[in-house]
Amino acid sequence: MQNFEAFKEKLKSPKNIVITTHHKPDADALGSSLALASYLKKKNHKVTVVSPTDYPDFLSWMVGNDDVLKYSEGGKGKSEEAIDEADLIFCLDFSSLKRINEVGDLVRESKAEKVLIDHHLEPEDFAQYVLWSTKAAATAELIHQLIVDLKDQDLIDKDIAEALYAGIMTDTGSFKHPNTTKNIFDVCGDLVGRGADTAKVAKLIYDNNSLNRIKFIGYALNEKLRVIPELNTAYFAITAEELEKFHSKTGDTEGLVNYALSIEGIKFAAVIIDRTEAVKMSFRSVGDFSVNEFAKKNFSGGGHKNAAGGISHTTLEETVSKFEELLQENKNELSTKTKIYA
Ligand code: 5GP
Ligand code: MN
Repeated sequence: MQNFEAFKEKLKSPKNIVITTHHKPDADALGSSLALASYLKKKNHKVTVVSPTDYPDFLSWMVGNDDVLKYSEGGKGKSEEAIDEADLIFCLDFSSLKRINEVGDLVRESKAEKVLIDHHLEPEDFAQYVLWSTKAAATAELIHQLIVDLKDQDLIDKDIAEALYAGIMTDTGSFKHPNTTKNIFDVCGDLVGRGADTAKVAKLIYDNNSLNRIKFIGYALNEKLRVIPELNTAYFAITAEELEKFHSKTGDTEGLVNYALSIEGIKFAAVIIDRTEAVKMSFRSVGDFSVNEFAKKNFSGGGHKNAAGGISHTTLEETVSKFEELLQENKNELSTKTKIYA
């Protein structure tokens, strides 16, 4: 972090702190936020975590969950109050204020100083203190680094360790993605040493499905998977009616895209979902095809090179047509077989 000394100085006396994270927080977004909140509370700061929206139930075990203000779910007034009173606002796991919906305007206009801690590409320039690295697999890895740099490693207790571990486990795809560096194992070793129960975290996040979700995945795999072998692409397009039929809840479609990407030879996978208010897309790739570029250029989105998302304000059918046309436009890149592993 640049200005680290000034940042450290700032935290020396108790502050009113808000921690916010992106729309529909995932395990890294929420885990980083709640771990940082627990740590800052131990340092006698007053801390409020504001999520722009709700998030999946499989994250609700994290310590501090019950105090999270969900802006879009009745938490507007209290969130505004907390942001208004804040001396310092931490923005975690997103690089652009538009990723936090209306909360973004409140943060931008607030008199508080801002701290950006993130690992997404192309950070917007709005924060006075920035801990940013695209080399980090997860924001949780950066939170761990920050606590270590503040020489407070011993304040990492079991609850903080498990929230951070959850973020790292999911953002590395359970230690499967190329972002799984030596540092990741070093950090996770430290977290386990401080009490993180890795089997518990894995069970709570991955093996905690509702029957509806499992049936929905079965249906999607059987009926909705479209594979275009000549373009090494596979995707699902899901209608609003299908979501309703399977009583889909926040988080139920998470991970679906990975089934498409797991097919032999596939290097580009997508899930396109009609969320009624807009069509949301998740993109994943293996190798050199940058889904971040693809999402940014065509669907007002972004993310990382191999994992990104975007949005479309046309119908599901129109979005799918546009997506298929774009596949043809990217034919040269997509049709070549990448030999990723010897
Ligand atoms: P997911 O597909 O799991 O929702 O998101 C994959 C990655 O892309 C995450 O890092 C997420 O933050 C980012 N992402 C997802 N949707 C959007 C979007 O609409 N805009 C931007 N800028 N990033 C997104
Ligand atoms: Mn992340």
